[in-house]
Amino acid sequence: MHIKTIVAAFVFLISTLVTLVSTAQANDALTQLETLVNEGSPSEGLELLEQLDIKASELTAYDNARLYFLYGQLYEKTRQLDLAIASYDIGIALVEPLAVSDILIDSYLERSFALYLQTNDPNVYCSDRRKALVFARRHNNATLLAKTLTQNAFCYNTATTVHKGIALLDEAMVIVDKSETLDVNRKAMIYNATGSLYRTVGLHKRAYDNFDKAYQTWQTVDDKEDMFNMQHNMISSAIKLSDWQRAQVNIAAQFALAEAAPEFEDFYFFAYLNSGRIALGAFDYPLAISNLERAISLKDTTLERFFVSGAHLFLAQAYMRTGETEKAANMARIFEQDKSFPANMRSMLLTADAIIAFDKQEYLVAINTLLKLIDEEREYNKNIIDNEVIDSALAHNSKLAEFENELLSNKLAINQLNLKAAIDKERINELKLSIFVLVALVLLATVFFLMHSRKVFKRRAQTDFLTGIANRGHTFKTGEKMIEKSIRKQQSASVIVFDIDNFKSINDRFGHHIGDLAIQAVTKRAERWLKKQDLVGRIGGEEFLIVLPNTDEKAAIVISERIRSAIACQSFKFDEITIEFTISLGIAVVNEQALSLSALLKEADKALYKAKFSGKNKVYLARQCA
Ligand code: GH3
Ligand code: MG
Ligand code: MG
Repeated sequence: MHIKTIVAAFVFLISTLVTLVSTAQANDALTQLETLVNEGSPSEGLELLEQLDIKASELTAYDNARLYFLYGQLYEKTRQLDLAIASYDIGIALVEPLAVSDILIDSYLERSFALYLQTNDPNVYCSDRRKALVFARRHNNATLLAKTLTQNAFCYNTATTVHKGIALLDEAMVIVDKSETLDVNRKAMIYNATGSLYRTVGLHKRAYDNFDKAYQTWQTVDDKEDMFNMQHNMISSAIKLSDWQRAQVNIAAQFALAEAAPEFEDFYFFAYLNSGRIALGAFDYPLAISNLERAISLKDTTLERFFVSGAHLFLAQAYMRTGETEKAANMARIFEQDKSFPANMRSMLLTADAIIAFDKQEYLVAINTLLKLIDEEREYNKNIIDNEVIDSALAHNSKLAEFENELLSNKLAINQLNLKAAIDKERINELKLSIFVLVALVLLATVFFLMHSRKVFKRRAQTDFLTGIANRGHTFKTGEKMIEKSIRKQQSASVIVFDIDNFKSINDRFGHHIGDLAIQAVTKRAERWLKKQDLVGRIGGEEFLIVLPNTDEKAAIVISERIRSAIACQSFKFDEITIEFTISLGIAVVNEQALSLSALLKEADKALYKAKFSGKNKVYLARQCA
């Protein structure tokens, strides 16, 4: 985001913040402010806050503390540790008289972290952590309590107190374990603290493994700063284990992180410092010297003075090993000049003392200092063994294993849920598919039904209701096409029109019903003499038209005669009533004057008329009557 747009947004936010009477709205604005400040780089955030000129008097004490906390965080990130500590001081003073709050606990924890960066001395930074824990235990925020417990665990890193640290970590684990959401930072911090306590009791292999777990946990959220710090801790453990192979892998990881995250300016300082420490441990003194000199040349990139001082002492040791005693003593003096190095690093102080004494040719002092160093190391190791701290560490280890199992089973449960979701999804897909198939089938059936109905409807529209043969319309339409086709194919074609003779009298004598049966029976008898390609249709009450494709005059006469005699020569029996009747037929054959059905029908009608006129029950050919 561009700084000016943020400023504009801010000015608005702050004006809202200071003018609003409602606390809830002011709270909202402050929350937005926190998010906005944290979105940019820390230096941008600071620039913004300074431009805004927020009037403290217009905010509540609590909101003021939040604002100072924000300042503290930004100063801490930009490594202006004095300013950060001063900001937390003010925030703490503001909210401590009020009810216990997150901001009070967080301010104590963050001030402690700034002091840690400044001094690396538990005597300096741990009192804030202890206070934070007192408040966190009174406060109702489990996540914050777990965080505070873990931070406190680092404060028990001596052989005689380590079991207290482990107890705090066990408590933190129970909380993290119970919480519904898996907090990556909390989990990683517990591994880190466990590693740190194991290191204290000389369990370096276990320490290494826990730092590695912390590293991997932070890797899941790509937290490069913490990943780098864990590589640093792993290197320290690898050096203690004289495991140079692992140390090399870790140092490579540190250089890779330094390259990937140039925003962390001191990564290279630490990478060179650690390369020097490894070389020193592996007896490669020239390499140790070159790496440590390189680290010292980068000392202004870091504010962690303890490590800058430490680098000088390591370099002093390397020079000592190459016989450059004067250079060694100079480095040891620089180490000792810095009064900020922690009291818990007594062995380092003794080493420096011995080197300086040697350079002053006070050999007895030098030797005695080294002997004292050995005594103190022995005392330290005795404490580790005598206080059964290893036992408590191992008990913690098994609890940690349980904790991991719990986390794993949580993960497993989540996986199972995912699996179930996947199965459900599959089922839904199957269901979708079957619904689709069903819909498709229904549609298909509907289409078939419609097509069928259409066909039925069409057939009904073409069929004569009484006889089931073609009706008048369909007969003319189809017959016309048949004639046209025959002409096109230059084939002969004929039509026959016939009409029942004296039908009125059948109706009159036997009733309409018998008349209907007579019409049906005539149809059946006539059809007997027709071929598949021939067409017969009812074109009037008791009047029929036959179209005969590929049929010449002679054949048409034969067919007509057969139909005529089939009706005339055999009586009909309907409902116990036997009746006899005849039909008259007129034939027309395609010729030059008659090249359409209507023309042929006209001719055939004329012939039929002649047949009727000449006594009925006769077949007449159209040309005969021309
Ligand atoms: P012709 O020999 O000259 O043909 O004499 P006809 O009595 O058959 O005379 P016409 O053809 O004029 O008479 C047809 C009669 O057929 C008239 C009508 O009452 C009767 N008719 C028409 N359609 C039907 C029908 O569907 N069923 C019955 N039962 N009678 C019908
Ligand atoms: Mg008639
Ligand atoms: Mg008639």
